[in-house]
Amino acid sequence: MISDQEKNAGRVALITGSTSGIGKAIALQLANDGFTIVFHSRSSVIEGESLASTSPNAAYIQADLSDQVQAKRLVSDTLSKYGRLDVLVNNAGINVSIPHGSLKEASPEIWRDLYEVNVIAPWTLIAEAEQALRKASTQECPASIINISSHAGVRPKGASIPYAASKSALNHITQLLALTLSPDIRVNAIAPGLVDTPMTESWIEAHKLWKEKSPMKRGAKPSEIAHTASMLVSSSYLTGEIILSDGGLNLT
Ligand code: NAD
Repeated sequence: MISDQEKNAGRVALITGSTSGIGKAIALQLANDGFTIVFHSRSSVIEGESLASTSPNAAYIQADLSDQVQAKRLVSDTLSKYGRLDVLVNNAGINVSIPHGSLKEASPEIWRDLYEVNVIAPWTLIAEAEQALRKASTQECPASIINISSHAGVRPKGASIPYAASKSALNHITQLLALTLSPDIRVNAIAPGLVDTPMTESWIEAHKLWKEKSPMKRGAKPSEIAHTASMLVSSSYLTGEIILSDGGLNLT
């Protein structure tokens, strides 16, 4: 039987926001699965170049995804370097904490900033990558997009209403594009609950909630979300799924 490493040799995965947290764990997992990896971040150039230098089959590209020109360049630079793209993971995202009742605090500027990075940038990357993903796709290994959304985009929860709404939009885009881009490109989302990353280090209340209320009694490790991403990428059939990865908190 052919191994994952053999199957994925020469296939290329671009993971946005992959110098820390969930994105880094997904990139390292897909590297382990045999993919050539494009690491990306907005500003951690040294970290990105150091991650890419550990393998002959990896590169790092810096791009601020709130800028449409740079978002498009991220895809075109990936294609110039490797000539193909098989997997796109839209992981980069931003969050803002605002009490849900403080409506005026959630200003139009905050709404626009969150939408720019969490919704419009993934859309642009998918649109720019579509042709290459279709070209790389085969029936045994259909090309794959994974959007990292949030449990806050599934249930009326989250650090702020604009954040939750942006992730809900990303979930809806996931299902609409699963219909539109099939059968060449499978499109799925992972909707994490609490994950131990730099973004959540100071979220004392959330850590308490997961410890006390969730069936798994803790938040997830980034490697556990990466395991789900690897499973979605290796499937040749799953599409349009939003995998709620919250340790069962939604059941309580
Ligand atoms: P993180 O802060 O470690 O990673 C976020 C990444 O996004 C960073 O690499 C950063 O460079 C990138 N990024 C942010 N703004 C950008 C921009 N303008 N241009 C380019 N890149 C930009 O956080 P994380 O917790 O690993 O988050 C990864 C994803 O998971 C995010 O989309 C987040 O919303 C989602 N998520 C996280 C949790 C959690 O508990 N950590 C829960 C649910 C969803």
